[in-house]
Amino acid sequence: MPPVDKPSADKYDYIVIGGGSGGMATSRRAASYGKKVAIIEAQGKLGGTCVNVGCVPKKVMWHAADIAEKIRHAKNYKFIGDGIGEPKFDWHAFKPQRDAYIRRLNGIYDSNLQKDGVEYHHGYARLASPNAVEVTRPDGSKYELHGEQICIAVGGTPTFPDVPGAELGIDSDGFFDLADQPRRVAVVGAGYIAVELAGVLHTLGSETHLLIRHEKVLRTFDPSLQDILTNWMEKTGVNIHKKTNVTKVEGTKGGPLTVHTDSGEPFEVDTLIWAIGRHSKTADLGLEKVGIQVTEKGDIPVDEYQQTSVPSITAIGDVGGKALLTPVAIAAGRRLANRLFGPPKFKNDKLSYDDIPTVVFSHPTIGTVGLTEPQAREKYGDAVKIYKSNFRALYFSMIDEDHKEPSMYKLIVVGEEEKVVGVHIIGLGSDEVLQGFGVAVKMGATKDDFDSCVAIHPTSAEELVTLR
Ligand code: FAD
Ligand code: NDP
Repeated sequence: MPPVDKPSADKYDYIVIGGGSGGMATSRRAASYGKKVAIIEAQGKLGGTCVNVGCVPKKVMWHAADIAEKIRHAKNYKFIGDGIGEPKFDWHAFKPQRDAYIRRLNGIYDSNLQKDGVEYHHGYARLASPNAVEVTRPDGSKYELHGEQICIAVGGTPTFPDVPGAELGIDSDGFFDLADQPRRVAVVGAGYIAVELAGVLHTLGSETHLLIRHEKVLRTFDPSLQDILTNWMEKTGVNIHKKTNVTKVEGTKGGPLTVHTDSGEPFEVDTLIWAIGRHSKTADLGLEKVGIQVTEKGDIPVDEYQQTSVPSITAIGDVGGKALLTPVAIAAGRRLANRLFGPPKFKNDKLSYDDIPTVVFSHPTIGTVGLTEPQAREKYGDAVKIYKSNFRALYFSMIDEDHKEPSMYKLIVVGEEEKVVGVHIIGLGSDEVLQGFGVAVKMGATKDDFDSCVAIHPTSAEELVTLR
């Protein structure tokens, strides 16, 4: 369905700003209750960060890298013949194929809105009053939509540092624009995106430099995960520059760049990727017109019901600055629509932000839910007990030492009943293993509950129900 170019109603029940994970979910759920709903998206394609420049194309690239690893492993499993040697990835040929898949998803999102009767407006939205939104269309023309309720779901954008020459680098959006694989790349940052992109590039064969400010990657994760992943990345040849800040970047955009740091000699790369965090897209949203104050970081503060300081305006997803994950934006959006427009049983519906499971698509993958060991010790002191196992997945029994990925499973339990308050795993398949254990933690499972479940053999996951 093409976007509409003017309001079709005097007043909407619900106006949603932003057609990403949160906006799509909340608008469709509201429409399912028979409400008159409009969604406004600036980019002219739906799906937001996750679909266009986030989870989906990232996971596709992770799969490509995973296949490269498997091709390397095939030698140890005694596969012979053409094609099983050092993998050669044709980035130039693969990118259009990946992009075509994303375009198909954009189309599916489009028809989902149509099926559900959500009216789609293509334009940039600004709040005009607590019940009105001004839409600026791509041609510059403007119109206003009026609504009972307005939901802000504008997400965020990558942060660039204030360093001379920073603009010569790209961000994660630019990574997905790369037509060819950089031969030499510097990735700056130590969080999810830095680790994931550096992992993909390295595994696909780029000379990869990872520049981190401290000693370890993923410093907000459990220390055991930080140690194992940092060591493994180094062992497999990612050039990690520790305690390093970029001081200057020189060169020409698209050409070779010289990276100057405060920790060593300048070095040359073809591409530099900034992955130092994201900030909310609230700078030009008209928030001051309705009296909504943002936090120091630019996020919109909301209460547990996603309510802003203005009764007719709510906010969901990354713009809230808490747990920047697609399923969080979706769940918060659906529950919000349930509460605002659903049957009475939903009148207090809200998302619990406790024990949100999350995965890092590193090599190997990481899964984590609940408290880290330092958080648990701070909260529960001596009542904390740790169960931990370091092992190699059976798959790697046939693989040479250099490619034997580590696995580590850790349970954090509390008190006499040994309630499980944290699960932290790294190793083959951790991304798929974690979801079910997330359910267990959410249900308040104890170590005995874990152990009462018969192990599935031979798997890595069985380690979590046999820890001693
Ligand atoms: P978004 O999806 O960003 O959507 C916001 C939309 O609002 C955008 O389409 C934007 O164009 C539009 N918009 C903004 N301002 C306006 C305006 N004024 N008017 C109209 N429209 C506007 N999460 C995971 O759970 N798993 C992953 O594996 C994962 N990988 C990621 C990888 C990368 C590289 C990145 C960057 C993020 C990743 N994330 C992942 C995070 C995930 O993408 C976000 O948490 C999620 O997209 C947030 O959804 P949202 O609806 O809040 O915002
Ligand atoms: P993160 O917040 O995960 O990490 C950014 C890291 O960069 C910081 O933790 C910090 O680490 C480092 N950093 C901050 N400022 C600077 C600086 N000036 N110079 C150098 N390093 C700096 O942000 P990301 O951008 O990686 O990702 C944004 C969010 O998107 C994530 O938090 C996550 O919620 C989501 N996401 C989820 C994914 C998934 O679910 N698999 C994948 C990708 C993104 P330190 O303090 O150690 O230096």
